[in-house]
Amino acid sequence: MTYDFIIIGTGIVGLATGLELNKRYPDKKILILDKASSLAADQSGHNSGVIHSGIYYPPGSLKAQFAAKGCQKMVEFCEEYQVPYRRCGKVIAAVKEKELPILNNLYERGLQNGLQLKKLGQEEIKEIEPYLTALAGIYVPNTSVVDFIEVCKKYAELLKKRNVEIKLGHKVLNIIEEKEHINVETDQGLFVAQWLIACAGLQSDRLAKLAGCPLTIKIVPFRGEFQKLNSNKNYLVKGLIYPVPDPKLPFLGVHFSRGVNEVIKIGPNALLGLAREGYRRGSFNFKDSIEIINYNGFWKFILKYWQTGLNEWFLSRIKSLYLKQLQAYIPDIRERDIKYYTAGIRAQALDNSGNLVNDFYFVEGRRSLHVCNAPSPAATASLLIAEYIVNRIEKLFK
Ligand SMILES: Cc1cc2nc3c(=O)[nH]c(=O)nc-3n(C[C@H](O)[C@H](O)[C@H](O)COP(=O)(O)OP(=O)(O)OC[C@H]3O[C@@H](n4cnc5c(N)ncnc54)[C@H](O)[C@@H]3O)c2cc1C
Repeated sequence: MTYDFIIIGTGIVGLATGLELNKRYPDKKILILDKASSLAADQSGHNSGVIHSGIYYPPGSLKAQFAAKGCQKMVEFCEEYQVPYRRCGKVIAAVKEKELPILNNLYERGLQNGLQLKKLGQEEIKEIEPYLTALAGIYVPNTSVVDFIEVCKKYAELLKKRNVEIKLGHKVLNIIEEKEHINVETDQGLFVAQWLIACAGLQSDRLAKLAGCPLTIKIVPFRGEFQKLNSNKNYLVKGLIYPVPDPKLPFLGVHFSRGVNEVIKIGPNALLGLAREGYRRGSFNFKDSIEIINYNGFWKFILKYWQTGLNEWFLSRIKSLYLKQLQAYIPDIRERDIKYYTAGIRAQALDNSGNLVNDFYFVEGRRSLHVCNAPSPAATASLLIAEYIVNRIEKLFK
C-alpha cells in the first residue's frame, strides 16, 4: 500500500490534481481516496454548473489569475472529451440606482482581467433576455454552462485509463507525517505515500489539523439552496441572469441559470449551515455546530454580518419575500412558478478575525499540501488550480 502521491478527495480539484500529477510523472504511483461512495459527492456535485469567465475577482488574486485561463481550459476539455456544455453568455443586471456604481466597477475590473465585455442599456438587455427588467447591465459572452459531475466522471475515466487508482468509501481518519514518508490511516486500512495532497473541501481544515499544520482559519459551511422554475415558464430565462454582487461578500447572489439539461435553477442563497454535509433542509450536526460556536472568528463575523445573515434567513423562509426579490429582475414570475429544488454547501474558510477568505488558500505540511479554501470558481478553474498545486508540491520535494 505504498504510493508516491496520495490525494484525498474525488471532488473536481482532487481529480484534476491527479491528472496533472500523472501528466508530469507518468511513472509514479498515485492513489486518490474519498470517503463517499460516488465521485463529486460534495461541492463538485452540488453547484450552479457555470463555467465562469473571471469578471468578479480582484486583479492579481489567484481567482483572477486562474478563472479566465481556467474557463478557456475547461471549455477546451469539454470539446476534446465531448462533455456537453453550452456557451450561453451571461447578463449581470443592476435593478437599483445604488447598484450602478458597483456595476461600473465590475466592468472596469473585468476589463483589467482581460475579458471581452459589453455594457447594456435597458433595450439591449431585452434583446438578450426579453423578460428581464433592469436599469443597466453587463454582457459577459464568454460564460458557459456544464454539468460538473460529468466533468468529474470524465476526469476519473482518464485517470483510470492512465493507471491512477481511485478508492471510494475510504474515509481518512488520521495523517501522520514521518521523516521519510507520510501515513494516511483510513477506515479501510493504512496507506503510505511520499507526498500527500488533501483536496477535502468541507473537511479540509480538520485534515490539515490532523497533519499538524498550523491553521488560522476554520471551514464554515454556507448552504446554497436552489429553487426550480416550472418548465412551462422556461421561456422567461434564456441563459444566465446574475445580480450585482455585494462587494463585501464572496458570494455572487441568487441568479437564474438555464443548465445544460434545460432546467432553470434559481439560487443559491447563502445561509449559515449547521452541518458540514447536511444537504437536507434543517440538517443539524452537533459536532459541527459546537465547533462553529466555539470559534472566535465566527462571533467576529456575526458582529459584522448579522443583518445580512438575518435577511438571507428571512428570504429563505418567507416565500413572498423571496418572490419579491426575483420579481425585481423578472416581474412575470409568480409564486406557483417556483419550487424548492436542491442545495449545495460551500466550504468557506473564515479567518480568526472574522473575515471570509476570499481567495484560494493553501496550507503546507512537511510532506503535505492542503487546499483549505477552494470556493467558486474552483470548479471552472480546476485544471489551473491543479497546475498550481503540483508546482507547489514540487517545491516541497525539490
Ligand atoms: C452552491 C454552490 C454553487 C457553486 N457554483 C459554482 C459554479 O457555478 N462554478 C464554479 O466554478 N464553481 C461553483 N461552485 C464552487 C465549486 O463547486 C467548488 O469550488 C469545487 O467543487 C470545489 O471542489 P473540491 O474538489 O475542492 O471540493 P469537493 O467537491 O467538496 O470535494 C471534496 C471531497 O473530499 C472528500 N473528503 C472530505 N473529507 C474526507 C476524508 N476524511 N476522507 C476521504 N475523503 C474526504 C469528500 O467526500 C469530497 O468528495 C459552487 C459551489 C457551491 C456550493
